[in-house]
Amino acid sequence: MNIKVGTRGSTLARIQSQWLIDVLAKAHPQINFEMVIIKTKGDLIQNKPLDKIGDKGLFTKELEEALLSGEIQMAIHSMKDMPSRLPEGLLLTVPTGREDPRDVLLTPHKIKSLAELPKNAVVATGSKRRIYQLQKLRPDVEIVGIRGNIDTRIRKMQEQKLDGIILAAAGLKRIGRFEDSDYQTVTLPETTFIPAPAQGILAVEIRADNELAKDLMGAICDANTLVQMKGERSFLKALDGSCHIPIGAYCEIKEETIKLYGLYGLEDGSQAVVQTIEGLPEEAEILGEKLAKMCYRELYKKPGKVYLAGGGCGDPGLLTVKAKEILQKADVVVYDALVNDVFLNDAKDEAEIIYVGKRAGNHAMPQEEINALLVRKGREGKLVLRLKGGDPYVFGRGGEEGEDLYDAGVPFEVIPGITSVIGGLAYAGIPITHRDCVSSFHVITGHLKSNAYDGSSDLDWPVLGKLKGTIVFLMGVKNLKKICEELVNNGMNPEMPAAVVYRASTPYQRVVTGNLETIYDIATAAKITAPSLIVVGEVVNKREKLRFFDEKPLFGKNIIVTRSREQSSQMVEKIAELGGNAIEFPTIRIAPINGAACDDKVKKLKEYTHIIFTSINGVEIFFDSLNRCGKDARAFGNLHITAIGEGTRKALSDRGLQADFVPDKYVGEELVSGLLPLIDKDSKILIPRSKNARVYVVEELAKVCSVDEVQTYETVREDHATVNPLEMLENKEIDYITFTSSTTVQFFVEKIGAEHIDAINTAKCISIGPQTSKKCVELGINVDIEAEKYTIQGMVDAILKDAEK
Ligand code: SAH
Repeated sequence: MNIKVGTRGSTLARIQSQWLIDVLAKAHPQINFEMVIIKTKGDLIQNKPLDKIGDKGLFTKELEEALLSGEIQMAIHSMKDMPSRLPEGLLLTVPTGREDPRDVLLTPHKIKSLAELPKNAVVATGSKRRIYQLQKLRPDVEIVGIRGNIDTRIRKMQEQKLDGIILAAAGLKRIGRFEDSDYQTVTLPETTFIPAPAQGILAVEIRADNELAKDLMGAICDANTLVQMKGERSFLKALDGSCHIPIGAYCEIKEETIKLYGLYGLEDGSQAVVQTIEGLPEEAEILGEKLAKMCYRELYKKPGKVYLAGGGCGDPGLLTVKAKEILQKADVVVYDALVNDVFLNDAKDEAEIIYVGKRAGNHAMPQEEINALLVRKGREGKLVLRLKGGDPYVFGRGGEEGEDLYDAGVPFEVIPGITSVIGGLAYAGIPITHRDCVSSFHVITGHLKSNAYDGSSDLDWPVLGKLKGTIVFLMGVKNLKKICEELVNNGMNPEMPAAVVYRASTPYQRVVTGNLETIYDIATAAKITAPSLIVVGEVVNKREKLRFFDEKPLFGKNIIVTRSREQSSQMVEKIAELGGNAIEFPTIRIAPINGAACDDKVKKLKEYTHIIFTSINGVEIFFDSLNRCGKDARAFGNLHITAIGEGTRKALSDRGLQADFVPDKYVGEELVSGLLPLIDKDSKILIPRSKNARVYVVEELAKVCSVDEVQTYETVREDHATVNPLEMLENKEIDYITFTSSTTVQFFVEKIGAEHIDAINTAKCISIGPQTSKKCVELGINVDIEAEKYTIQGMVDAILKDAEK
């Protein structure tokens, strides 16, 4: 009788098969076992890393087909090549003893353990399981990929002068190269460097209905190997393991029990866990499953959470309180093109910010990749904020993201946002419903799959043409002409009012109105592009009375704010309230200096009769010093307090101190003349202030009495990267630049570049006062307006007055 035994054609496979055929022939002398070589896909693709080929059963499929067709009766595999699930109708049997299950490091170095490998050695391996364990034991080692059969790999090690390669001991032993004078063989213990499930076990696959093959194999079965195979493979199967994930298992046979070791990691290799479980040999399969669950639970111990949130339709004030709260806590923020960039300032400094939208020529990240990214970050235990424009479920594909998170077992929540459909329209002065005219609204994608209406179009125009409610088309500007034509062709009144709203609720908002017949030409003439909303319905007429946003006095004005990041909020808020677009370009930063000297003065505060604060920073830094010295506002006692500027006065009163004197104008001369009547030769004045301040005040006052100046901070250039407004200046898109001190002027010119002074002068320059104006003139900037009152409000008033002209 003849039994055909299929095998792959590699040297190792042939040797293994011959060995097994010999064992079988010895047990069953009456039968003739014949070796049949069958090539598999894995044999044909030699140059790609295995995990990139991504095919289960890479080394087994063709053999299995031959079994099923009856061409062969047995197929021999290395057990570790077997996918965790077999095709229907086949089963695995295990012959004889297990070859050495361990991995080994082959190395040209004369060493006995992994620890002795030279520092920063280069070691080759392609398996994620080996990479992970090697990195864990030797983080310094550089790991490179490798493929090919054992001989090829050993040759590559020698040619490429690698410090080592990792292989399975079993293969080396079978081809007789375990001990070789060309290299050292360092074995890696199976309980600390966990091998692939069933490594070293030969598998014989047969048809489940072939009783003869079962009997033949049963006769040469080894009980312990069977237990190991069952335990290790049930672990693999429960985790649905493939070569894409780091996964390893080893079943240790003890006297009466077995101990299973399992390794399981994330696909990107960044994390893995090892768990163990003990039990009886007959429970091997159940133990494997239990161990898999333990690993899974341990790896995904604290899955993070993903918030699918809407960022509102443009105005940063339209972010919900809840989304903002999560934004401030999130470890990862994943955001789109329609999301306002300013939100990112609220994220934690260490938060990972990932942009997935379209940007100048670059494609957006494909949706499947975004979904996978959210799953991955969630599984890593991160708090993820997925921030989308408008509302996440309104043409935002939030549903797809949620479904994938559900499938992956990552918890998520949805934070609805103000959709452009409703919020954007409101900012354009168009109420989506109104009792006067409509009782419903319809939101439709204008991103038409088929542009030629030939009956195959994806929108049901005959129905749309009859709608009585407001219709809002998103993503439709490109198809505006077709949309209007279809509606009219399908029965809608050509005089039905229509509007197109570009970048609603942002400083760039533009609204054009007309009717179904005229709106296309009007929008085209106005060069309206995406992103825009198309609105069709009587409600468009309500805009005349209900528009509020684009009628604000500074609407459409782009205003650069050059103050320090910490100080700019007051001006930014005032500008935004008036509808202007404040572009923050901080040029300065406050750096505290001479802390010890200031502390020294604080301790001797009683010796002074007067103190002068010249700025909010001065107050803040002085109070930091008080704090350090364990003091509070009582330390001021009867000290006469002067505050320069409204902000400084307020900073003091916030801390329980009312300034005795606040000069009307915030210049040195005014201060000196105001103070002179209040001091005499016995006075003693303390001035904690900026290093960059003018000497004038100190000099003048020192003519009368003793004056101690302590320089508590300096103004340095802010070199933190922000968007450079040069391009906008060159395009004449900036209306105003505001300068609040001579240092802001100096650093602004330095940062933009003195050679671009003409571009700077395309905008109107607003200066806070004479010193600042002087600096502007010195550097070639034309001062258009100097504030009447030398305050932030004074500057904003000046802009308002100019804008109203
Ligand atoms: N989820 C978003 C819509 C995403 S689809 C929402 O709820 O608003 C993208 C389309 O939305 C754009 O093509 C445009 O038609 C519209 N859109 C979003 N924000 C907009 C805005 N500020 N101004 C005008 N249209 C906007």
